[in-house]
Amino acid sequence: MNIRIGPISKKLTPHLSACMRCNTTWRFVKSHATPFNEHEGAFPLCQKCWEELTPEQRLPYYWLLLLEWYRESGTELSEAERGALRAAVLQGL
Ligand SMILES: [Zn+2]
Repeated sequence: MNIRIGPISKKLTPHLSACMRCNTTWRFVKSHATPFNEHEGAFPLCQKCWEELTPEQRLPYYWLLLLEWYRESGTELSEAERGALRAAVLQGL
């Protein structure tokens, strides 16, 4: 399934996180992951939203996701990982 149904998806699947642009949870849309180290990636956007944006337009969604990670679990990327993520996003990964 890959349909951007938006905020209603959060009511249907409240335990899942969602695309930060169209607010559709990962049950309904496919996420686009961007690596920030060898094993881990960040996925603030669904594949369709990701495709509609330029790399520069995508970047703020990645920083929003990192903020959410920090707020929810205290998880923080290292400076090297943030640099790697920024470079990967701007390279179109
Ligand atoms: Zn989306």
